[in-house]
Amino acid sequence: MLRQALLALSASKQARDLIMATPLTRDVVARFVAGETADDALRVTSALLADGRLVSIDFLGEDTTEPEQAAAVAEEYIRLLGRLSAAGLSAHGRAEVSVKPTAVGLGLPEHGEKTARENIARIATAARNAGTTVTVDMEDHSRIEATLGLVADLRADFPDLGCVIQSYLRRSGADCQALAVAGSRVRLCKGAYQAPESVGLASRAEVDRSYARCMRILLSGPGYPMLATHDPRLIRIAGTKAGVVGRDPGSFEYQLLYGIRPAEQARLAASGAQVRVYLPYGSDWYGYLVRRLAERPANLAFFLRALTSRG
Ligand SMILES: Cc1cc2nc3c(=O)[nH]c(=O)nc-3n(C[C@H](O)[C@H](O)[C@H](O)COP(=O)(O)OP(=O)(O)OC[C@H]3O[C@@H](n4cnc5c(N)ncnc54)[C@H](O)[C@@H]3O)c2cc1C
Repeated sequence: MLRQALLALSASKQARDLIMATPLTRDVVARFVAGETADDALRVTSALLADGRLVSIDFLGEDTTEPEQAAAVAEEYIRLLGRLSAAGLSAHGRAEVSVKPTAVGLGLPEHGEKTARENIARIATAARNAGTTVTVDMEDHSRIEATLGLVADLRADFPDLGCVIQSYLRRSGADCQALAVAGSRVRLCKGAYQAPESVGLASRAEVDRSYARCMRILLSGPGYPMLATHDPRLIRIAGTKAGVVGRDPGSFEYQLLYGIRPAEQARLAASGAQVRVYLPYGSDWYGYLVRRLAERPANLAFFLRALTSRG
């Protein structure tokens, strides 16, 4: 119930304006977000890489409504990739970028798919020049067909373009089968959105079982699985399964969000596993923050304490 209410809040313009205007929210935001500027993203990326992590940087923003805004988001990524390259942070894919299709135009009323495809191609070209890759985030279920379609098209020119499967969807097993091919970079996550029961699994237990099934498919195939979860049980199952199928530690990676389970991130990296931290930056942090609060009531308590302790 609380999760549903919070996810509904993430789409509310009024709540957004109110919460973003509260200066004390910033303490909470700082826990999950590098900062508002590319300088902040570079600084935190540099520290994470020095600490033995890989990084995927997300310029915050979604549901872009103007073509100019979508182009400006692509420009931001292109500039960022240039700076990462100049700073020696992107070579060999150590720091890559994650892009939300609706941030670069997928939801535009006209030519949305074409605009998003062109913008992601420009970002992927800049990433290639910087020696790194792009992963296309997956958003709510209404965007899945279009997102998988544009990833499939773009992979003709950018075979290392990453995509995302969400285990809360009934279709995820079939999608994993189709995507578990040589060279295919696939991030597996549970899914941070809501879907009707006709397309989404209702209980957490089902979502977890689906995740384990999808993980087995990806780890058994010839692709490059990117296992995005903080769930200790699933991380344990991943390690066991990778051992059973004889996976080299360099042939897959764990992914966790910046600010979440940092001790586990360090433990995994120290064990010799590849660990990539998803690092958001930018001023449009509202939707991202509310999805993180929805995932864990303890984060909501942390948020409310920050609001009231100084209020
Ligand atoms: C690298 C990365 C990329 C992602 N990309 C996408 C994407 O493209 N599309 C998409 O829909 N979703 C994405 N997600 C979000 C994902 O779908 C889940 O919503 C999120 O990861 C929480 O699920 P979980 O697997 O960690 O399991 P959960 O069952 O939510 O949590 C398991 C345990 O992890 C810890 N934990 C989980 N979340 C938090 C939190 N917010 N704060 C503190 N502790 C927590 C707790 O100990 C919890 O008990 C991504 C997640 C990661 C890590």
